[in-house]
Amino acid sequence: MPEPDFFTVLLLLVSPAAGSFLGVLVDRLPRGEDVVRARSACRACGRALRPRDLLPVLSFVMARGRCRGCGAAIPAWHLYLEIAAPGLAVLALLAGGGAAHVWLTALVLWLLLALAVSDLIWMRLPDVLTLALALAALVRAGLAGHAAMAGLGALLGVGSFWMIRWGYARLRGREGLGLGDVKLMAGIGAFCGPGLLPHVVLAGALLGVLAVLLAAVRSGQGPAGDARQPFGAALAAAAVLVWLWTAAGQAAI
Ligand SMILES: [Zn+2]
Repeated sequence: MPEPDFFTVLLLLVSPAAGSFLGVLVDRLPRGEDVVRARSACRACGRALRPRDLLPVLSFVMARGRCRGCGAAIPAWHLYLEIAAPGLAVLALLAGGGAAHVWLTALVLWLLLALAVSDLIWMRLPDVLTLALALAALVRAGLAGHAAMAGLGALLGVGSFWMIRWGYARLRGREGLGLGDVKLMAGIGAFCGPGLLPHVVLAGALLGVLAVLLAAVRSGQGPAGDARQPFGAALAAAAVLVWLWTAAGQAAI
């Protein structure tokens, strides 16, 4: 593990707040709402959130996951994001590298997390997030001297998924792969590089099949052939797992 310096300590300090902000992005972007200027308010009663409502994790726990005004339940995934974001920051730190690299790794992991949650809840991968992911992954690779490989990974990711989308639509006459999944592959391809891209796609497909089978077992019915699946969430999870696997092999965690 690298020596803790000012920038890495700062990363850990801001990470719970980053988790809160990811919650705002996931809550508002798919609805087409402003994420910068609009004040946070309860969805049920419209009460504006005060500073004591905005403390990551603590506010949720102290208010028992309910609005202090009307008592409406706040979705638990807000809390999960506030816990997961610091966890991902710790993994970025353990994987090593200079301060800028560690920060960019954390940013990529946070964006993948936000995209996965957005896909699970809304079946949407907002363009702002897929674009930010691609930019962060390319800058991260550029700083490490791998810009060309990252660019190739992004091209292969988008190209292969666009071909699958086009081929499926031609064969079946309906959409099998969303455009958001195609855009997501730009960032994932840049983050993992062309060499690991097949691993990510395979792991994502296996996770996706597993999720469908688990849902079928829980519902007691067979898997629905034409039901939409959050494949983007499976791909984002696979990208993090493959990155973790390679990082564990390189750094002495
Ligand atoms: Zn309320």
